Amino acid sequence: VTIGDMFDQTVAKYPERPALIVRHQEIRLSYRELQHQVNLCAKALMEMGIQKGQRVGIWAPNCAEWCIIQFATSKIGAILVNLNPAYRLHEIEYGLKDSGCSMLILAADFKSSHYTEMILELLPELTDGTNGQIQSSRLPQLTHIVRLGPEKQTGMLTWDELMAQGEHVDDAALAARQREQEFDDPINIQYTSGTTGYPKGATLSHHNILNNGYFVAELQKLTHEDTLCIPVPLYHCFGMVMGNLGCITHGAAMVYPSAVFDPLAVLQTVQEEQCTALYGVPTMFIAELNHPEFNKFNLSSLRTGVMAGSPCPIEVMKRVIQLMHMQDTEICYGMTETAPVSCQSTLDTPLEKRVSTVGKVGPHLEIKIIDPASGQIVPLGNTGELCTRGYSVMLGYWNNPEATAAAIDQARWMHTGDLATMDGEGYVNIVGRIKDMIIRGGENVYPREIEEFLYTHPSIADVQVIGVPDPKYGEAIVAWIKVRDGAQLSEDEVRAYCQEQIAHYKIPRYIRFTQEYPMTVTGKIQKYLMRQTSIDELG
Ligand code: ATP
Ligand code: MG
Repeated sequence: VTIGDMFDQTVAKYPERPALIVRHQEIRLSYRELQHQVNLCAKALMEMGIQKGQRVGIWAPNCAEWCIIQFATSKIGAILVNLNPAYRLHEIEYGLKDSGCSMLILAADFKSSHYTEMILELLPELTDGTNGQIQSSRLPQLTHIVRLGPEKQTGMLTWDELMAQGEHVDDAALAARQREQEFDDPINIQYTSGTTGYPKGATLSHHNILNNGYFVAELQKLTHEDTLCIPVPLYHCFGMVMGNLGCITHGAAMVYPSAVFDPLAVLQTVQEEQCTALYGVPTMFIAELNHPEFNKFNLSSLRTGVMAGSPCPIEVMKRVIQLMHMQDTEICYGMTETAPVSCQSTLDTPLEKRVSTVGKVGPHLEIKIIDPASGQIVPLGNTGELCTRGYSVMLGYWNNPEATAAAIDQARWMHTGDLATMDGEGYVNIVGRIKDMIIRGGENVYPREIEEFLYTHPSIADVQVIGVPDPKYGEAIVAWIKVRDGAQLSEDEVRAYCQEQIAHYKIPRYIRFTQEYPMTVTGKIQKYLMRQTSIDELG
């Protein structure tokens, strides 16, 4: 089935169940009400002339309209382009050009993001054309801009004006359009997080993302009784696939606590909406657990959740399970290019494996761990590059056949660029990224291992380890440490702690105390920027 068909099936089963709760917009919609909005929006897009395969971009933090556009575009076969809300002028121009968007849905200004101003700088000649059409020499394919928020802006439609267009199209026309979809049609272009450099646009089909959302939710046993708190950005697959599609395949409620991540809003939302599940990247769980008001909240409604997106420290997993009552929390591993999840634990995975591995290969997928140089599968327990194959592998990078060919081989294996090991039972451990591995004096050092060790120090709230060039050893190890509130810690104490317990060549040469890490909007730490800073600082 397609995403639109699956959505309609769920609405037919659970019309009166809550579907969408957006706390910062005070919006609450049942499945029936959400379907009404989605269908109206889908018809409006048809009235605006959006054809199957045309691109519709959304450049906005989490909001109700994001969800509505996601399902409306799926129904009419338009390709949704997720544009990172942190993009600035240069990047948005690239994103719109690269994907060739016909329509852009634009957020009203948010904090320091002056979205409208940036668009006006890009398209200064913007005027109101007929039927809200615009023309621009800089972005010739772009014919419509819809701006969220109540105020009218020259050359842009308001959301209400867009939705009003939907009244001119009848339901039969929408149903006919919906039937034209094939399950392997492209439906979404998602840019990767940009953790290691410039983001790449992964082109994904109904089949890729609908199945992935379904299986992740299925292994967590989500049902129509569940309420899922989604603080992760919808712009990324964690939010729109594991969150939104996970919920709509099972009739669960989607709850957005805030426009962008706010730990206090998450704690309040879980308590007040009685959420049963909570998703997040590790940095989000760390911020929630460390929040000064953490103990004031009653989180006992929580049952399960997913931690994913970057290395999930064992200590943090343990605290989430104990202190947030999320007994069934699991780690998932994946990437945008694989829609996203390839490995995950299940509810019957033993606790010790659940906190220390990314589980096993997901249903109907294959994985293998190879020596990147020879392409041969490495013996069990050895480190190599993880490759995956199956329904989840993207159609390709948009407009970039060379990058696609470099990532997906002839036999359809996706080469992830991640280093992993597998044990005799099939449990997978992510050791790190090939790009982040440190080679010190000929020894391979995996930052992850040192980070896990330092996390066990009671004064350390968070730690990241990188390598910088070193004339003698090739690379030297640098640890960026965030100290727990109220605690004191010196470089010597850190070194003494290491000396007792880890090999000398793994002990960080440089220790740097910090309050912040450079981060993507998806909450992932950009080690390549840390490396640059450390290189500059160390001269
Ligand atoms: P870019 O490709 O633009 O540099 P990115 O790889 O961070 O950014 P994503 O597709 O969002 O973009 O992230 C996928 C990557 O995140 C994986 O390749 C892996 O390195 C990391 N990752 C995801 N889940 C886990 C996990 N559970 N444990 C360790 N690493 C993870
Ligand atoms: Mg990547």
